Amino acid sequence: MRQFDVVIVGGGPAGSACAKKLVSAGVKVAVLDREDFPRTKLCAGWITPEVVEDLDFDIKAYPHRFNTFEHIVVHVKGLTFNLNTPQHSIRRYEFDDFLLKNSGAEVIDHNVKNIEKKNGAYFIDGAFECEYLVGAAGTRCPVYRSFFREANPRASELQVATFEHEFPYQWSDSRCHLWFFEAGLPGYSWYVPKENGYLNCGVGGMANTMKARKQDIKSHWSHFTALLENAGLVRGFEYEPRGYSYFLRGNVDVVRIENAFIVGDAVGLASIDLGEGIGPAVRSGYLAARAILTGCDYSLLEINDVTIRRPWVRWLLSRLIGKRGTRKVTAATASA
Ligand SMILES: Cc1cc2nc3c(=O)[nH]c(=O)nc-3n(C[C@H](O)[C@H](O)[C@H](O)COP(=O)(O)OP(=O)(O)OC[C@H]3O[C@@H](n4cnc5c(N)ncnc54)[C@H](O)[C@@H]3O)c2cc1C
Repeated sequence: MRQFDVVIVGGGPAGSACAKKLVSAGVKVAVLDREDFPRTKLCAGWITPEVVEDLDFDIKAYPHRFNTFEHIVVHVKGLTFNLNTPQHSIRRYEFDDFLLKNSGAEVIDHNVKNIEKKNGAYFIDGAFECEYLVGAAGTRCPVYRSFFREANPRASELQVATFEHEFPYQWSDSRCHLWFFEAGLPGYSWYVPKENGYLNCGVGGMANTMKARKQDIKSHWSHFTALLENAGLVRGFEYEPRGYSYFLRGNVDVVRIENAFIVGDAVGLASIDLGEGIGPAVRSGYLAARAILTGCDYSLLEINDVTIRRPWVRWLLSRLIGKRGTRKVTAATASA
C-alpha cells in the first residue's frame, strides 16, 4: 500500500492545477490517471486570457502549438459578425501533458475503480492510502460516484452532448468560427484552427433538448461538415468524429465532504454560455488545494460568474433547454 498526503484522481487541467499548488507547498501528492500521457482529450482547445493568467503561463516558453485570435467570427441565423475578444487555442494532447509534467506530482497510470473511507483515511483499490482525496476525473469521476452523487445529483437538463474531430489540416482561414443554433441545434458548432496545421471541428448541444426535438448529435454533425465543405473551410476530408458528454454549471454546491473534494468536470462546472470548462477546472483545482493547505472553505463562488444566478444566463438557458427546464434547474440551485 502506497501512502500519500493527497491523492488526486485525474490528471486533466483540474487535477494538474491542484497538484501544482500542493506540490509547491511541500505536500506529498500522487495523481492517478487511467490514461498514459500524453493522451487524447476531446475538446476544441480554446482557452481564455484568464486561463493563461491563472496558470501564470509563459506563452513564449510554451513548447507546443499556441494560437491567438484577435476576434471570433460568430454566425447566428444567417448573420455573421466579429466578436472582439482575443482568445487562444491549444491542443489538449500537448497542453494537458505539459501541465501535468509541470505540476511536479508523482503521476501513476492507474484506473481507479473502488474507493473506501476507513478510520479517517481513503483507500483506493487496495493500493493507495491518503488523508485527502481530490476527484478530478471528469464526468464519470469515481470520487464523485463514491461520495457526491447522492448529495449532488447531476442535472440532466444541463448535460451537453458533443461530437468532434481534431486532425492535421493545412487550413487557409486562420480565424475561429462559431455557429449558434444552426439547423435548430440547441448549442453551437465550432471551427478552431491550431498553430502549424491542426484543426478542431465539432458540434455541442443540450442532450435533453435534442432528444425532445427528436434530433441527434450525429445528424447535426453531418449538417455541420456539409456547411464546412460549402463554405470552403474544410474540403474533401474523411472525418472520424468521436463523442463525449459533460455538464454545464448548475446545482453544484456540495463539493467537499469531509476530506474528499471534487473539481472541474467531476463537479460539472463548464460555463452556461459557451461550455468553457478549462478555466473553471483550473480555478476549482487551485481552490481545493488552498482549502487543503489552509483549512479554509472550499467554495465555488470565486469561479466565473456565468452561472444561472444571472438573469441573462437564465434567458440564454431558456433558449437552450426551454422555460420548464430552466425553472427546474433554477429551483434546484435556489434550494441547494
Ligand atoms: C467536445 C468538447 C469540446 C470542448 N471544448 C472546450 C473548449 O474549447 N474550451 C474549454 O474551456 N472547455 C471545453 N470543453 C470542456 C473541457 O474539455 C472540460 O471542461 C475540461 O477538460 C475539464 O477538465 P478536468 O480536468 O475536470 O477533466 P478532464 O480534462 O476530462 O480530465 C479528467 C482525467 O481523468 C482521467 N480519468 C477518468 N476516469 C478515471 C479513473 N477512473 N481513474 C483514473 N483516471 C481517470 C481521464 O483519463 C482524464 O485524464 C469541451 C468539452 C468537450 C467534450
